[in-house]
Amino acid sequence: MATEPTDNENATAATPAVVVPANRTPLVIRSEVPEHKNYGDYRQYLRADFYYSCAYCTVSEAEALGISFEIDHYEPVTANSELKNNYRNLMYSCQICNSRKSDVTPTPEARAVGKRFFRADEDYFEDHFRVKYAKIDFLSATGEFTIDFLDLNRESLKRIRDIRERLEACEEYVGAGIRALSKRSVDSLPNEIKAQAQRAIADAKYMAASLSNSIDIILKGAAKSPFLDPEPEAAARLKEQSEKLKDLKRLFPGMWQGRAVAKAKAAATPAKGKAKTSRPKKTAKAKK
Ligand SMILES: [Zn+2]
Repeated sequence: MATEPTDNENATAATPAVVVPANRTPLVIRSEVPEHKNYGDYRQYLRADFYYSCAYCTVSEAEALGISFEIDHYEPVTANSELKNNYRNLMYSCQICNSRKSDVTPTPEARAVGKRFFRADEDYFEDHFRVKYAKIDFLSATGEFTIDFLDLNRESLKRIRDIRERLEACEEYVGAGIRALSKRSVDSLPNEIKAQAQRAIADAKYMAASLSNSIDIILKGAAKSPFLDPEPEAAARLKEQSEKLKDLKRLFPGMWQGRAVAKAKAAATPAKGKAKTSRPKKTAKAKK
C-alpha cells in the first residue's frame, strides 16, 4: 500500500512535501517595543521590523517608487476594535496591498481550512508560497487566498521579482565560490602554496561570517526610502503654513476650502423638482 501515515491534520493530497530546516524563522521577527496609545506611533518600529517592506507583497520602500506605505491592521478595526493599537496586530503594508485587503475578515470556518491572509510574523513563507520566474505560486490555502485577494502577480510585482532573481543569481555565484574554496582540502595542494591557500580560506571564511553578521544592516539600508523618514521640522513647518493660510484668509475673506465652494455651488443650482425651497438669489448676488 502506498498510503503513508500523516501526523499533520492539515496535510492534504495537494500539499507537497517540504523539507523543513530546523532553525527556520518567519520573515519578520518583532522587536520588543515600548507601549503606545495610538497605532500610528508604532510606525518607525514597524518599518524597521518589517525591513522597510510590505508584509504581503514584500516590495521594499526603495523598490516601490511612488507607492506609499501604510499601517495595516491584520484583524481590521471594524471587526476587532480592541486590537486597534496592539503592535502584534499591525503590519507594514504598501498602499496597494492595504487597499486590496481592505476590511476583509475571513470567518472562523474559513480560517480553519486556511482561507486567511498570510502573516509575515507568524507563518513561514516557504510553507505557503513559491517564487519562480518572477511569478508567485501558492503551496497552501493561505497562500492561494493571499495571492488571490491581494493580486500578488500584478505586473509591477513581477517586474520587481525579475530584478531580484537576477541579483540573487549573481550573489549565489559569488557565495558558491567562497563555499567551494573553504571546502577544498589544503593537503591536496602543492607545498609551496599551502600556507597562502590556508590564509585565503581563512580570509574567505571570515568575510562570509562578517557578511552574514552585517547582512541585516545591508538589507535594511537597501530597502529603506529616505522619503519616508520622519522629519523633526515637518510639524513646525506645517504649523507655520497653517498660520500663513490664516493670515491670507483674513486678508482675502471668502471660501478657501474646496468643500465649501462645492457646497455653495450646490446651493446655487437647486436640484430639479424642488427648486423653490433654496435661496439662489442671495448667493448669485454675493458673487458679483
Ligand atoms: Zn504590498
